[in-house]
Amino acid sequence: MNRRRFLQLASAMGLYSSVRGFAQAASPTLEPWQPGMLDIHPLAYGRGNSTFIFCPDGTTFLIDAGVTKDSTKVSCAQKPDPHVRPGEWIPSYALRQMKPAGRKELDYALITHIHPDHLGDVSVGDPSSPKGDYRLTGLMDVDAPVPIRKLIDRGFPDYSYPALDSPFSTSAPFALNYFGYVKSRQSLGESTERIKVGSSTQIRLLQHPDRYNNLSVRNLAANGEVWTGVGEQTHNTFPDLKDLRKQDYPNENMCSIALRLSYGKFDYFTGGDLPSGTGEESAESWRDIELAAAKAAGSAEVAVVDHHAYLEPSGRISSVSFALRLLSFRLGTSPIRQPYRCAGCSVASSIRETAIFLRHARSRRTEFQ
Ligand SMILES: [Zn+2]
Repeated sequence: MNRRRFLQLASAMGLYSSVRGFAQAASPTLEPWQPGMLDIHPLAYGRGNSTFIFCPDGTTFLIDAGVTKDSTKVSCAQKPDPHVRPGEWIPSYALRQMKPAGRKELDYALITHIHPDHLGDVSVGDPSSPKGDYRLTGLMDVDAPVPIRKLIDRGFPDYSYPALDSPFSTSAPFALNYFGYVKSRQSLGESTERIKVGSSTQIRLLQHPDRYNNLSVRNLAANGEVWTGVGEQTHNTFPDLKDLRKQDYPNENMCSIALRLSYGKFDYFTGGDLPSGTGEESAESWRDIELAAAKAAGSAEVAVVDHHAYLEPSGRISSVSFALRLLSFRLGTSPIRQPYRCAGCSVASSIRETAIFLRHARSRRTEFQ
């Protein structure tokens, strides 16, 4: 649909205010949250992925809290302050946002997959945790000032898929550190769960669910298991491991958790580091797991570009552009009726996800002005 046609339609359907509302939502200054608002904060600190979601009833949800220790040739410079660990900065930011609801804890923290830029790399300089045999970095750092009520990841409790020593070596320090944290949670009786693909109730509103029954989180994919779109049914897209050589096993990125958060007619898709292909035209189609997850999601108003917006060297159209194409179509035909906002813009948009996310928002603004 071209711009003129959309504007005609928008004007006819009385959509102008919601379109303007979206443009204002991308402003660097965000007024405090109020009940009924869905705030999605892609946190841009240059060293990994983290998104804080503040639900309309005050339920709090963090997706990833990564920290890379790479040089600036590989990762961006640390923001907003090179002397403040991202794992310290994330909770102070989240606590500030939660204030209007009087919240001081995270109802959920979800780790999309076991990689340092999603849960926290570790070095000898990181402080030891007083609670267990692990150091404070990334997610572990967040948990200290903002207790995590429920942790969800793709591999709990034994992390044995696709193999115990694969795709990360059991000696990888970041993995051992995370497992130390998970063990400590277990010994302290803190809730930890493996993702239930297909479920729309594993992650749900916990503060005032009766007031907002139009918000849901659907678990779309993890470990190659993908929601079919019917009930909570799933199917396995990865081949049986016994039919694969070990070097051909699905890798850690491919096992990422994907989910869709819906609030009324607004849908948000995010899928960790799901790749869209291998770059080999002859590659088996099951390796295009991002496409399977995007198909399960259907259309979405916002789709975070997976895997840091790296272009998998595939000649095929990525599932993300598939999702975004549907997005423009859907936006032109069905109005967004729920208040939702995109935050995090005031913090330098140095991680690529945020840049893409915001560029997308800006291009929509341009289109609608
Ligand atoms: Zn990553």
